Amino acid sequence: MLLDVNGLSVSFGGLHAVRDVSFGLERGRTLGIVGESGSGKSVTSLALLGLHLGAEVTGSVRFDGRELVGAQEEDLRRLRGRRMAMIFQDPLSSLHPHYTVGEQIAEAYRLHLGASRRAARRRAAEALAEVGIPAPERRARDHPHQFSGGMRQRVMIAMALACEPDLLVADEPTTALDVTVQAQILELIQRIQQDRGLAVIMVTHDLGVIARVADEVLVMYGGRVAERAEAETLFATPRHPYTRGLLDSLPRLDDPEDTPMRAIPGTPPSLLRPPPGCPFHPRCPHRMTVCENDLPALAELPAGHLAACHLGSP
Ligand code: SF4
Ligand code: MG
Repeated sequence: MLLDVNGLSVSFGGLHAVRDVSFGLERGRTLGIVGESGSGKSVTSLALLGLHLGAEVTGSVRFDGRELVGAQEEDLRRLRGRRMAMIFQDPLSSLHPHYTVGEQIAEAYRLHLGASRRAARRRAAEALAEVGIPAPERRARDHPHQFSGGMRQRVMIAMALACEPDLLVADEPTTALDVTVQAQILELIQRIQQDRGLAVIMVTHDLGVIARVADEVLVMYGGRVAERAEAETLFATPRHPYTRGLLDSLPRLDDPEDTPMRAIPGTPPSLLRPPPGCPFHPRCPHRMTVCENDLPALAELPAGHLAACHLGSP
């Protein structure tokens, strides 16, 4: 197991952003983490990389056998440089506006691999070619703002790959892009994953993205895991009412009537003052009295499927 997470909790003072998250991830596989904003999905992914942002982190994150919770900042930084990489929704936030993209990617190679300037420049152009940027030698001399959103995300991916990571965490990497470009970027990530045997964590609010890329899915709600299953199982037999709500709000390609999407009514719970019992109960169409008082445990269903709901397996 490349990544083995057990009982991970992250809190900022009295705010419990993430509670008791567990999962494992092998090389070559993609875990999708899906949820609304405030569900804890981004905080979870940052904590996996040892980016704690001053939070209190408990539980265990083992990366290739090494415990990251409580590890030295310097060790974590080295791991992030060499073995774990991250891409975000907005590549401009991670790219320097004043340097050419070639310089920035070359710098990453020099830092991570100790390559010479010249070798690093050559690798940078190769990396741009690998992520499908046309005329890579010429484009290496351009600045980030000279690229379209989709091309910029490709540059970001090229930079993330410079350290030849084992794990790539992608947080809403396609959210700002139009549908066609989004599909291209997802395909690119998948191709690179297959070529390199990368483990990928795809963090998104969009189940459509999950459906395209994930092998396994973690559905988060109110900082907790609501449901976890192999992607096929989750889409065929979603057990948690929240997951079903998310699925109902997906546009259906095979729907001749073009039924408007049904969003889940209500708003996500406050993390400062979460509701008692099941965090989803104020919005749940199936809530029972027990739901208002008792937190449902993450219960095991057949095929490694887990769901935290008092309805149990029907
Ligand atoms: Fe709904 Fe109750 Fe299940 Fe929560 S535990 S999702 S409120 S049925
Ligand atoms: Mg987020």
